[in-house]
Amino acid sequence: MKKLFTFTSNFLKSNILFIGFLFIASLYVFSQSPEIKRGDRDVIPGYSGWAGDPDTITVNIDDSSFTDAEKDSIRVAINRWNEAGCLPVLKEVDDPPANINIVESDTLSDGVAGLYVWNEDGNGDVTSGTIYVNDDTSPLSLKEVVTHELGHALGLDDTDEAANPSDVMKGTGPTNGSDGNLSAHDSTELTAAVISALITIPGFPFDWFWAIAPPMAILPGEFTVLDFDLGTAFPPDVVEQTIIMVDPVGDPYLFVETAYIEDNLLHVAVFSEKEHGSGKLYLNIELDFPEPFEDMHFWGVHYINMFPAEPVDFDCPFNFNEDDGLVHINWVESCTYPLEHPLRAELVVDGTTHYAQRGGGDYTLTLEPGTHFVELYVDDYQINHAYYSQTILVTGTNEINNENTDYVIYPNPFDATCYFSYPENTKVEIYDTSGNLLTILQKGQKKWTPAPEMAAGVYFVRFTGPKGVRTMKIVYR
Ligand SMILES: [Zn+2]
Repeated sequence: MKKLFTFTSNFLKSNILFIGFLFIASLYVFSQSPEIKRGDRDVIPGYSGWAGDPDTITVNIDDSSFTDAEKDSIRVAINRWNEAGCLPVLKEVDDPPANINIVESDTLSDGVAGLYVWNEDGNGDVTSGTIYVNDDTSPLSLKEVVTHELGHALGLDDTDEAANPSDVMKGTGPTNGSDGNLSAHDSTELTAAVISALITIPGFPFDWFWAIAPPMAILPGEFTVLDFDLGTAFPPDVVEQTIIMVDPVGDPYLFVETAYIEDNLLHVAVFSEKEHGSGKLYLNIELDFPEPFEDMHFWGVHYINMFPAEPVDFDCPFNFNEDDGLVHINWVESCTYPLEHPLRAELVVDGTTHYAQRGGGDYTLTLEPGTHFVELYVDDYQINHAYYSQTILVTGTNEINNENTDYVIYPNPFDATCYFSYPENTKVEIYDTSGNLLTILQKGQKKWTPAPEMAAGVYFVRFTGPKGVRTMKIVYR
């Protein structure tokens, strides 16, 4: 059922809501159409579901990773989401690869109970997912960790541990107290994810609009007016003819009191009950403008939190290193977040592979050798967010000296000049750790003296020649 809010010129004066009343006035000719304003924050983009909108996605429980008892625990996790009405439905299959593959891992960072890695296509639709479960999930049970990671596969975000201690989807912290059963807030988020995945409205610009006011998360149990920037200032007589429909998305604890347009702003007065979970609130908003304006249909989103965080600026730079074939992305120590709220991170590699891990913290990944574009999004589950990106060069080797006598660099580490030996017709390139090409040696050149302004540190030498491509790490000190 949709709530209908119709604006008339009396509305602002009397603040009386006219429901179902269409005010017919002469058409205001205005050449510009409303622009879509994208949210200024895109930390966890609007989940748009699995590619092809399947009714069912398959899940494989890796046979060699888990005992029969463990497999049964994982089945409990699968059934929890199916019983809660997830879409698509999860269906276990015996043979990999399935849409979602659940495997055990002994290479996750310390304190990480589980890691969900998923791939998206160019439309942002999910194409595959892998759940890595730490071989030691303590103090969480396997059941709770897998329930959490499957929630991500169904489009749910991590939630704020401090404000939602009973959520299975909380991103950090101890057990939710029910061995991973869904809380009321988990169920609300599932409903939003299901509806979000279902929305395909041809001809409508559809997006998430973040409220531009109030500047902080709202408190559960509070009456608030949320402002959304429509991108165009609408004259009163156009607004008078506009039909405004605003509904909470599958949210029994949120109520819309009124909604009206004033200039470029849509004001939506909402009331939430104290029981409302901390996270996002979602409003399905449809604005039917008179000709020649295009109608707008979008989700209005804002934060609701028991412990609203004040607006702050912070940075989340990361460094990376390689070790034993693993890539470590370390950001926790250098993150400048100044408040006490828990943080949520998401890593995106090469634009399409996403990483979310239960327990937060630094990342340990396996990546193919070559350059990768790594993006890190960090937020406090509320208004404050930071972003950092870097191109990294993964060599697939961490050996400073190596046994391959076709390619030799000496001395290594070196102080002023290093020398090379390599086969004829080899191209030699030198990169920094961000994958930036610094120099290409002249044909036959067998030594390299870094320019005086070059910083001491790690560099990579890439040989491309008759013996294939080989990248070696050198240390300039
Ligand atoms: Zn998570």
